[in-house]
Amino acid sequence: MTDSPSTATPANAAPANAANAANAADVHPVADTVDVVVVGAGFAGLYMVHRLRQSGFSVQVFEAGTDLGGTWYWNRYPGARCDVESINYSYSFDKDLEQEWTWSERYATQPEILRYANHVADRFGLRSAIRFGTRVTRALYDDTTKRWAIDTDQGDRVSAQFCVMAVGCLSTSKTPEVPGIETFQGPWYHTGHWPHEGVDFTGKRVGIIGTGSSAIQSIPIIAQQAAHLTVFQRTPNFSMPAKNAPLDEEQYAQLKAIYPEWREQARTSGFGVPNELPERSALEVDAEDRSKRYEDGWEAGSLVGMLLAYNDLLVDKAANDTAAEFVRQKIKSIVKDPAVAELLAPKNHPLGTKRPCLDTGYYDTFNRDNVRLVDVLASPIAEIMPHGLRTVDEDFEFDALVFATGFDAMTGPLLGPDIRGRHGVSLREKWAAGPRTYLGLASEGFPNLFMITGPGSPSVMSNMMISIEQHVEWVSDCMAYARDHQVAAIEPTRDAEDAWVEHVNEAANATLYPSANSWYMGANVPGKPRVFMPYIGGVGVYREECDDVVANGYKGFVLTS
Ligand code: NAP
Repeated sequence: MTDSPSTATPANAAPANAANAANAADVHPVADTVDVVVVGAGFAGLYMVHRLRQSGFSVQVFEAGTDLGGTWYWNRYPGARCDVESINYSYSFDKDLEQEWTWSERYATQPEILRYANHVADRFGLRSAIRFGTRVTRALYDDTTKRWAIDTDQGDRVSAQFCVMAVGCLSTSKTPEVPGIETFQGPWYHTGHWPHEGVDFTGKRVGIIGTGSSAIQSIPIIAQQAAHLTVFQRTPNFSMPAKNAPLDEEQYAQLKAIYPEWREQARTSGFGVPNELPERSALEVDAEDRSKRYEDGWEAGSLVGMLLAYNDLLVDKAANDTAAEFVRQKIKSIVKDPAVAELLAPKNHPLGTKRPCLDTGYYDTFNRDNVRLVDVLASPIAEIMPHGLRTVDEDFEFDALVFATGFDAMTGPLLGPDIRGRHGVSLREKWAAGPRTYLGLASEGFPNLFMITGPGSPSVMSNMMISIEQHVEWVSDCMAYARDHQVAAIEPTRDAEDAWVEHVNEAANATLYPSANSWYMGANVPGKPRVFMPYIGGVGVYREECDDVVANGYKGFVLTS
């Protein structure tokens, strides 16, 4: 995890080395020399430690947070849940773990997911590898020794043959680009840095900026607590009802009995969850058929329920329009004030091309007397002031502000530390026009550096757990291969990387995704190159590509003895 790039400080900012002070008994010495340094102790970092230790490697993890969990350590805002079903959003690498852990709800809450991460860490004894409250600031590659020198903000320097960036895709939070944040006299919170002790908004006038997944989950709950909530919306998002519920014990037991087959389906699927793929186009059926399928998709309560109603919703604008219009009509049927409903209905991007959301009572929240929606596309926020904020048309007074304004996604966490490969070239320089990787795993010029779910891999276009496991296993197998074959350094060739980047772009351009101003495209960060960062080819296809590379002697990589 990396911190906010903003210089402003949220109400909940914790000292960087808080863990060292708080958990002194838990602090394990940092070795000067290890086989592998892993950056980050979220789900990727935890499994990486376990896999590396099983393969006999020594490993040191550095984690900026004061405890483990990554995304689920930081994102504690009201209503935070995973919108991938809990039966899918969990590790599959250990059959006993899979059987012994029992999720309570269809969509797990943040506290339950964090308990699960802690359970896994304790069960496999992973904590001893992790130094908390410690941020990696720099990683320098030495072409003579073929090793990385890794520096931290706590003064550590560790030499490692391999460096693994397990930093997450959505961990560099971003505050709104609005002047005056530092002048605000009340507390302000970023959803991605929520105070561990929680926030009580009772009786408060609250303003929230943003209407992405984090806002859509937190708005209904903040609205129930606050005296008044004003929602500042720039782009309305498509959201479907989550239909969350406790897991049915009998169905859960049946699933556990076939868990291995279920997981295998996920590994070979498009998005990393078992799904039947549609065979028909939305345009080859009549309106009645579409209406029925969309209704089923809406009622399914899943991210892909609507998107997989037909096979062309993500590639054909006319087909997509039919589904998008269905959702707009749903919004209008829930929200009583027609003007508010109109504002909430997304019109500037196809359904699914910005990350869709799952919610519990989001649209209905706008029927409450204490909630107001403000369109900041029409009336932009001009400044934040000591007692509230000002749009170009109106002044608003608040006791507290919430920024649900998202992240510098995918590249932000990787470019936080100063990473320098061969000849001192920095990753920031190399990626100035957008990320360049081979398979989203490695980048030419940066030998022995691996990324877990990096740009150019399915990552955020998939169930992250499936993609994390696949990468961790690929990377640890690669290191074991290197050790067993006396390989000192491994890095992609420029040709292989160029071909992969081209393939990633071609795959994206065959879809509607590039037509939206999404964080997938880097469009939410001013000045960030507009490149579709994840690989949209599907996790099953992608896995085959990665396996094929290995089967052909690490095709596309240079291996130096
Ligand atoms: P996000 O989707 O990037 O949403 C940020 C929101 O803030 C957008 O509505 C954005 O508007 C708005 N915004 C940003 N800067 C602004 C400004 N200066 N003025 C006005 N509005 C501004 O961020 P997020 O909601 O934190 O979600 C990020 C991703 O995290 C999700 O897409 C999802 O992948 C993941 N996530 C998952 C879950 C889950 O599993 N349940 C929950 C939360 C998040 P524009 O759209 O106009 O840029």
